[in-house]
Amino acid sequence: MAKFKRILLKLSGESLAGEKKQGIDEERLAEYARQIKEAVEMGVQVGIVIGGGNIFRGLSGAGKGFDRVKGDQMGMCATVINSLALSSALDAIGQPNRVLTAIGMEPIGELYSKWKAISAMERGEVAIMSGGTGCPYFTTDTGSSLRGIEIEADVMLKGTRVDGVYTADPEKDPAATKFPSITYAEVISRGLKVMDITATAMCMQNNLPIYVFNMDIVGNLRRVLEGELVGTLVHN
Ligand code: UDP
Repeated sequence: MAKFKRILLKLSGESLAGEKKQGIDEERLAEYARQIKEAVEMGVQVGIVIGGGNIFRGLSGAGKGFDRVKGDQMGMCATVINSLALSSALDAIGQPNRVLTAIGMEPIGELYSKWKAISAMERGEVAIMSGGTGCPYFTTDTGSSLRGIEIEADVMLKGTRVDGVYTADPEKDPAATKFPSITYAEVISRGLKVMDITATAMCMQNNLPIYVFNMDIVGNLRRVLEGELVGTLVHN
């Protein structure tokens, strides 16, 4: 029995790039698709939000002279590209899925609504909610908090390259230790970079717990769903 009935899985664009660091790594994509199919087979309803950092980020574009709003719109389109890639990888292994877009762009995807996402998940389809929030100056972390709250997910699973929340960046500080669980208030007071402040505040106010774990280790999504303590729970 899975621990959660409905999840919002947030995947970063960067991790989709795998070893390539940019663009899409087909092997990583296929691995993610297999793990997601396994979650559906466990009876879990799966909603997904993917970032776009492997292709374009509005803020770094602004530093290079791009207009910030247009740069963010490019970033949102990047999340749609990643979502279509995941959809195609899920199709290839026979996992039904649906791409919903925050901005109207039919026939690429259907315009998102909470009810479309929920009815897709209830039919056993993976609902891939692309385009972030549809608004500039936000991130896909905020997009996934928003969608997670809207679709009434039991938890947001944040699949990253690290296996949880640490006292400091474990890639820079070898003395950093991992929290098995931590409150949102402590994340904010310690200035820990779990998600940006807007996303953290939304989850805190709406009581959506986040579980941070390493999605790049094959089998970890199943382990989280089975209740194994492979990451960090952030809660109120
Ligand atoms: N973005 C946006 N509004 C949103 C979500 C994303 O403008 O609601 C843009 C923003 O430019 C961001 C880019 O899309 O930099 C890619 O998203 P993000 O940086 O969150 O991707 P990740 O870091 O997860 O790969």
